[in-house]
Amino acid sequence: MQAELLPCPFCGSSARYAGGTASGVYIVCGGPSPCGGKGPSRKNSSEAAHAWNRRPIPAPADRAKWEALREACNGLEDWLHEDDCKCGQCYRIKAITQALAALDAKEQG
Ligand SMILES: [Zn+2]
Ligand SMILES: [Zn+2]
Repeated sequence: MQAELLPCPFCGSSARYAGGTASGVYIVCGGPSPCGGKGPSRKNSSEAAHAWNRRPIPAPADRAKWEALREACNGLEDWLHEDDCKCGQCYRIKAITQALAALDAKEQG
């Protein structure tokens, strides 16, 4: 029996299995008008489901929070002191901007 799939993280539609033996198994957005969402390819359906259900990308509900966070952090770099400053303020600003950059990289696949 195949694992239950969480909805598409991009649009919230239901998801379905796709792919085959050669290309591996992966999960795609299976909504009435699929958004093109596609999970990582794995060698079998249970691993594909696991990868899909891990959702590294924020679901639509979380995404609003993330966008708000990113908006709030806009211009944060202006608060940095000189480049190699090691103070707590600079450390936190760098940590936040790096985390946001990592999220952006994930979203772009
Ligand atoms: Zn979708
Ligand atoms: Zn500093």
